[in-house]
Amino acid sequence: MAHILITAGPTRQYLDPVRYLTNASSGQMGQALAEAALEAGHRVIIVSGPVGIDYPTAADVIHVVSTEEMLVACRQAFPKCDGMIGVAAPCDYRPTQVEENKITKTGQPLQLHLIETPDIVATLAKEKGSRWVVGFALETEDHRFRALAKLERKTCDLIVLNEPSAMNSSQNQVEVIDRQGVTVASVSGLKIDVARRILEVIHERLM
Ligand code: C5P
Repeated sequence: MAHILITAGPTRQYLDPVRYLTNASSGQMGQALAEAALEAGHRVIIVSGPVGIDYPTAADVIHVVSTEEMLVACRQAFPKCDGMIGVAAPCDYRPTQVEENKITKTGQPLQLHLIETPDIVATLAKEKGSRWVVGFALETEDHRFRALAKLERKTCDLIVLNEPSAMNSSQNQVEVIDRQGVTVASVSGLKIDVARRILEVIHERLM
């Protein structure tokens, strides 16, 4: 039995009190991984951005809004865990300044100044010690090459390459790639079945 941290869903970066940057992540792959991990007898902590789905009641769920909040919650949870699966799609950019009041239209173009938010998987992987870290990569070009570069850069133990069509869908098509660049599993179908196979690979390789 392991204690597994799962990041899930999108995050939001507010520009003003009502507008934000985000993406189409639904949290369904995180939900499926949590279900598969619980089925396999593990304890699960989910740190999730705003989603419209329900996570399994047996999981501990921490709700956050921004990428910075997701990092803080994950840093608190990670020391208690044996490993983490980063399936969230955290918003990579935030405005340098969040306006206190709603930005008023002027009829002129509006320029936003954005800076990068922290990378949760990369930050936790730096502090992982004997724990394992599994990342996800969603690529639109040079899929394997970019996924492998991410695995290296973020010092993950495995990376799961999936397609943009996975976003907000009940299905997924993935390749699980190890640190040697070998595809150790190739699965497609319902996210719950894909999640079960990913958990099997984690059992075989990392536990
Ligand atoms: O966005 P990117 O393709 O770099 O995401 C790859 C992996 O990094 C995913 O596992 C995702 O959850 C994670 N990530 C993160 N924090 C970010 C951006 C991505 O943990 N700010």
